[in-house]
Amino acid sequence: MAHVQGERLIQMQRRLADFGGRSDGGVSREALSTTELAARQWLCGLCTGALYQWYIDDAANLIVRRHGTDPDLAPVMTGSHIDTQPIGGWLDGAYGVIAGLEVLHALDDAGIQTRRAIEVAIWTNEEGSRFSPGAMGSSAFSDPTRLQSFLAVQDAQGQRFESARNAALQATPTAQRIKLGHPVHAYIEAHIEQGPVMECGGYSLGIVTVIQGVRWYEVTVHGNSAHAGTTPLATREDALLTAATMVSHLGAAAAARHDDALRWTVGRFEVAPGSINTIADRVTFSVDVRHPQESELSAMHALLHRVLEQNQGACTYEVRALMQRAPTAFDAQVLAILESAVLATQAPHCHLGSGAFHDAMYLADCCPTAMLFVPSKKGISHNAAEDTLISDLVEGARALAAALVALADA
Ligand SMILES: [Zn+2]
Repeated sequence: MAHVQGERLIQMQRRLADFGGRSDGGVSREALSTTELAARQWLCGLCTGALYQWYIDDAANLIVRRHGTDPDLAPVMTGSHIDTQPIGGWLDGAYGVIAGLEVLHALDDAGIQTRRAIEVAIWTNEEGSRFSPGAMGSSAFSDPTRLQSFLAVQDAQGQRFESARNAALQATPTAQRIKLGHPVHAYIEAHIEQGPVMECGGYSLGIVTVIQGVRWYEVTVHGNSAHAGTTPLATREDALLTAATMVSHLGAAAAARHDDALRWTVGRFEVAPGSINTIADRVTFSVDVRHPQESELSAMHALLHRVLEQNQGACTYEVRALMQRAPTAFDAQVLAILESAVLATQAPHCHLGSGAFHDAMYLADCCPTAMLFVPSKKGISHNAAEDTLISDLVEGARALAAALVALADA
């Protein structure tokens, strides 16, 4: 798409980074903070005129529509989020929003009105650092019944999501209220990779075929508290020793699968009573397993139970499944259209899975969806040092433009 202007894209990207911009290059712009609301107001000024209408829904998702020639057809949508971690980088989420707006500007320059409308969505609270869980806006868009439970969620200062949401509704008076979850023909989200795979391979564009699935477990090992000085080793029921053995055998069993796509993590390990001269009677640890294939997640589920059973020694244990999300396979037709758009740029590209969750994961539940990645320098993200080559950012916007236009004229 020849009318995409790299200079304009980067200028908008840098200006957005000024909202919450830090001297170290990072950005602090948490969900629905006054900083984020100011950024939303600024964004509303970027697309004005007869072809444009801004909307805001009950989850404070802010959406700009560039009208198509046929108002009866469902719009094609792109977008991402502009909230950041407490200290985030300048591109996470923001890139997908700005690339989408640059596509609209390029269409203006080219004098093209597509058949279907094209919308750019700014999803509320993707990061989940201020209000938990993350991706509130996109998950409520995909299933509006979720909103009710989000409204009562409080941030660390005790402010309710509902009141922050209300402030967001007031901050953009030119945006028309729209019902949460309108029909969408197809969704493509551009995003930085946030990992090292593309840079290592020398790729500028990545077609994301799947978002890996995840399962969270909590394992509790029960032993028996006893005096560290008087209890012989042979008679102990040491919950800590047993839990440590379990974790190390889990690590060995996972490594023995020789599967580059497998991720498993024990990130939390709590010991009770936690006294230097008392044998531990209870240890609780977490297990986070991720994989792009559901069958492998099931295999890891079985492996977890087997390893725990084989290594329980004199202790007992229980496993609680805390959360699971199946892998999200993106839509074959949208992927094919994205592939043609990527090929047309002639930039080196690859196909890959996403290790992180994105708003697109929830959009995939309600419309045909795919994602486009650009590389992250050294794979760094959620960090002030987050960056991407300007040429890659521009190629990404070009591919996004071609794919959106192809979908909007279909
Ligand atoms: Zn993101």
